[in-house]
Amino acid sequence: MFLFIFSLDIAIGRLKEHVSTTKKTSQNLKVLAKDEYERNFISAVVPPNEIGVKFDDIGALEDVKKTLDELVTLPMRRPELFSHGNLLRPCKGVLLFGPPGTGKTLLAKALATEAGANFISITGSTLTSKWFGDAEKLTKALFSFASRLAPVIIFVDEVDSLLGARGGAFEHEATRRMRNEFMAAWDGLRSKESQRILILGATNRPFDLDDAVIRRLPRRIYVDLPDAQNRMKILKILLAKEKLESDFKFDELANTTEGYSGSDLKNLCVAAAYRPVHELLEEEKKGGASNESSYLRPLKLDDFIQAKAKVSPSVSYDATSMNELRKWNEQYGEGGSRTKSPFGFGN
Ligand code: ADP
Repeated sequence: MFLFIFSLDIAIGRLKEHVSTTKKTSQNLKVLAKDEYERNFISAVVPPNEIGVKFDDIGALEDVKKTLDELVTLPMRRPELFSHGNLLRPCKGVLLFGPPGTGKTLLAKALATEAGANFISITGSTLTSKWFGDAEKLTKALFSFASRLAPVIIFVDEVDSLLGARGGAFEHEATRRMRNEFMAAWDGLRSKESQRILILGATNRPFDLDDAVIRRLPRRIYVDLPDAQNRMKILKILLAKEKLESDFKFDELANTTEGYSGSDLKNLCVAAAYRPVHELLEEEKKGGASNESSYLRPLKLDDFIQAKAKVSPSVSYDATSMNELRKWNEQYGEGGSRTKSPFGFGN
């Protein structure tokens, strides 16, 4: 009992500490924001110690992690190595592209943790719909606020919708001005290398990006669907804390989930994990088990095989998109397996 109260005390102490550092961070952010436009981004900023995802939490994608580490973590953590001369310039734009659910958002968050950088996530709607008419000022504010938060990663999810092909007949004037402002502010970052700001874009539709955007994202990394070996790594991470039958056949599960993305695998695991729960409830209904003995049996391979009927792979059927992605990777991307210098030679 004493031990329990003692550890409860420690836990409460830690919680208070956490609340006070969180408060402190958001107070600091408030001080940093110079006007009402910048203040709009305060809630979108996550400090590196609060992101809660590390590279180790991501199964597979070893090459992608390695490339990002060299490309981003090093310049953010050791800016002095990149401040001399003209050859070693930190990269200002990285694109993660690939089918949905392959871990692009997860990678972006983990990268911010690893690089010790603040993380701001924006989408097209952050800068447009809500602030119709003010989009240009808001875009300017995003960059000026970010420059005070450096090191910082600005994650632009669905970058094609924010900065898609420009100049179409139906493009709204306000959107056009916002996009131009975004490009101009982005170019401005290049002249101030020391600021450590990175634009990290993600998209399932890189072929919708126009040349001006592609040029500003010189490192384009393909985040592909996992193969059997990588599905096994992802499954091991997703199931690390679950009770499994002894000698659980990870390899068999990995082999029967062709076409599943990381996100599909997660949904499959959730569906499988419900099965022992349902069984127990059924038992209880029949009066076979008392409420007190709510013992959940370990998960077995068959739970996952059965769950496959409910969770099917979301992208493999769409062969056209997959082909388009691969073609785009051939033309513009560097792919996980192709070796390239992290510092951008040979682009
Ligand atoms: P994307 O941004 O590529 O659409 P997400 O990063 O949002 O995909 O992935 C959705 C969810 O799927 C993640 O939150 C995570 O639970 C799971 N997931 C996807 N890929 C992986 C992976 N490689 N390792 C572990 N979990 C993954």
